[in-house]
Amino acid sequence: MSQTIRLPSQCLVVLIGPSGSGKTTWADANFRANQVVSSDRLRAAVGVSEFDQRASADAFAVLDEIVARRLKRKLLTVVDTLGINDDTRAGFVELARRNDLPVYAITFDTDAKVCRERNKQRARPVPAKVLTSQLASFERVQASLPEEGFDGVFEAGTIEIVTPAHLSAKDAADRQRENPMSLDFGLVVSHFDWPGGTEELAKRLADVAQRAERAGFTSLWVMDHFRQIPQIGREWEPMLESYTTLAYLAGRTEKIRLGALVTGIGYRNPAHLGKIIGTLDVLSGGRAMCGLGIGWFEKEATAYGWDWLPTSQRYDLLEDSVQIMRALWGKGAPAYQGKVHSVPEALSYPRPIQEHIPILIGGGGEKKTLRLAAKHADWCNLMGDPETVKHKLGVLADHCRDLDRDPTEIRASILTNLLIAADRAAVDQLVEQRRPESRSAHDFAREHNAGTVDDHIGRFREYAEAGVETVIVGMPDLGTGVGVEVFGEVINAFS
Ligand code: GDP
Ligand code: MG
Repeated sequence: MSQTIRLPSQCLVVLIGPSGSGKTTWADANFRANQVVSSDRLRAAVGVSEFDQRASADAFAVLDEIVARRLKRKLLTVVDTLGINDDTRAGFVELARRNDLPVYAITFDTDAKVCRERNKQRARPVPAKVLTSQLASFERVQASLPEEGFDGVFEAGTIEIVTPAHLSAKDAADRQRENPMSLDFGLVVSHFDWPGGTEELAKRLADVAQRAERAGFTSLWVMDHFRQIPQIGREWEPMLESYTTLAYLAGRTEKIRLGALVTGIGYRNPAHLGKIIGTLDVLSGGRAMCGLGIGWFEKEATAYGWDWLPTSQRYDLLEDSVQIMRALWGKGAPAYQGKVHSVPEALSYPRPIQEHIPILIGGGGEKKTLRLAAKHADWCNLMGDPETVKHKLGVLADHCRDLDRDPTEIRASILTNLLIAADRAAVDQLVEQRRPESRSAHDFAREHNAGTVDDHIGRFREYAEAGVETVIVGMPDLGTGVGVEVFGEVINAFS
């Protein structure tokens, strides 16, 4: 049997084969009933039965309508017709393109004798002459398929449905095995709605941190938010204050770096923030990171009575903050006169243990944020697919050249969320367990980059090839602690 076919969970699949070649059987075995749009079944829906040839035109009209509407919603759709009509296939390829979806052809190259035999067994066989003509057409179509614009043409066989992010991961994972690149990994704790509730939170948090350390994560991050953010959950879900949490974690871990991803610049007086991070550095034995960003969650800020500065002033404040903190962590008590914030005496003792606390500037804004990163940051933090990240790193490098800075001085990190399990069956099970009823399994899997260990190795290899050096992951199932351990296998593949 040929290799397992990998299809992304958002695509159009067109089946191609004569009657009796096994199309419907294969589709039913591999897809859910609502994903398969079958001309036979629609004949039964609009006509007397599957065999009602007089209902064919209506059945195909409905089929086109259903496929078009499903593709508009980016739903995985399998067209179960003979697939041997050239115009029909071209129409599907074009429809998929218009909806920005990949389209795959699956061929059923079943022996002609077998098709004839199966046809005879049927309650209503196709006339022998018709089948002969289908078999001939299929031969011809098979030859022309590679030129028809499909994103892939596969012979029917074992298939795996993967999230679009993991589509090319298999080849990438092979590259990683053959010629390994290194990456290091951070873990961000971005939700606290864990089993055991508030009572057990401190204990479980320490447990997650210790598991992360054992699994080989080299940095541990929390968000700097005062309520859960809408991208993750409801505002009344638990959210711990960032630096208090980091201080607690400093006492419960040994070697993992600790930071906020990222500190909202408007939430603390910048000198006070420097004092906090300097203290974290001392108490953690030199493990503090300084993650900074201009913030975006206005509602959260104004709810606590903070002023919400205009964007340009928040950029200025970020730049002031970097300089205030560098002054504060250095010797003496210099004065700093900033655009938004000034400090008469940047004095803070004890000085941090690290001679240079790494400053991470989060965000991919090309004109301002990456410019500031080029100017001041030791790390940048980006989001997006490998291609996007590669582009952003190019922009960062351009800014660096412009500022006469060596771009390799800035560590490139990305933030991504994921669900991980050992194999496909375990991934599917995890997705089923975690998904809310309102989300389809495929949508939930895609939103959370659900994949096997190998899927993640491949995906992160693609990021490494794009220039990424650190991958920071969030996991929606952190509270159970299982994913962190499984992820250790991914870390091992890059160390
Ligand atoms: P279609 O006309 O291409 O949709 O073919 P069907 O899926 O309806 O299959 C035609 C007949 O072949 C049915 O009786 C199936 O049970 C049988 N069949 C389909 N695939 C296989 C297969 O892989 N192995 C065997 N033994 N029978 C199959
Ligand atoms: Mg069929």
